[in-house]
Amino acid sequence: MILESLKAALEKSDRQKLALVGIPDDANSTFLRGAAEAPPKIRAQLFSDAFNMWTETGVDLGEDVLLDAGDLDLGEVPDAWAAIQHAVEAVLDHGLTPICLGGDHAITWPIVKGFRRKYDTLSILHFDAHPDLYDNFGDNPRSHASPFARIMENHLADRLVQVGIRTANGHQRKQARRFGVEMIEMRELTGDLSLAFDSPVYISVDVDGLDPAYAPGVSHPEPGGLSPRQVIDTIQRLDGRIVGADIVEVNPRRDFHDLTAVVAAKIVKEVAAKMLVHA
Ligand code: MN
Ligand code: MN
Repeated sequence: MILESLKAALEKSDRQKLALVGIPDDANSTFLRGAAEAPPKIRAQLFSDAFNMWTETGVDLGEDVLLDAGDLDLGEVPDAWAAIQHAVEAVLDHGLTPICLGGDHAITWPIVKGFRRKYDTLSILHFDAHPDLYDNFGDNPRSHASPFARIMENHLADRLVQVGIRTANGHQRKQARRFGVEMIEMRELTGDLSLAFDSPVYISVDVDGLDPAYAPGVSHPEPGGLSPRQVIDTIQRLDGRIVGADIVEVNPRRDFHDLTAVVAAKIVKEVAAKMLVHA
């Protein structure tokens, strides 16, 4: 049923190359709910009359480029995980590059499952304060504390690079070694970060990777974080082909003046511009 309305939206695609899909799910958050309310908030800023649709790099993200496929209605579905995966597959089958608006970070696991069906090789660039590598958090395998453990143990990605980490404990460091995760911790981040990937790249942005000064509207604010400039520069400098992205963990219940929704919309724009280089 939810796929019907998504497919109807996708049918309207013509020349567009990118599709925006909201995934309003925060059922697997461990501390605070609210991230499910983020997609309309981010979308409102993205399309606000306060801003234009041009990216810093000179790309016009108008209607000819970006299809807004709406939010998935996950309210009545028996298995949200299967629905998310199938929605992503439907977007990819339409030849569109998905940009998913969360939701909490748990949704990245079913999204990447959908990507793996299409891509034999896949790298993930993950911005976050947290490694999200818990083997077991609260006996919920779908916890937003665990998506990258699930992704790596199921071989859904060949390479995982994490940027902005500043909460890794002993268990998560062990998990990172077990999976060969390239963890670029906040404390060792100096100067410009230039990353190169020889396989298609999926970008996952947890906005709590940003310093809470820039992104206060999150469930787990962790001081000492990235600036929006550092995230954008890393994306603009990236050497590789970006095939999909999500931006997650905006919690409007904790936000001030929609600041976090604004910064999320800004990052969406610059990720979209980078996607179009190879789309
Ligand atoms: Mn996360
Ligand atoms: Mn986080």
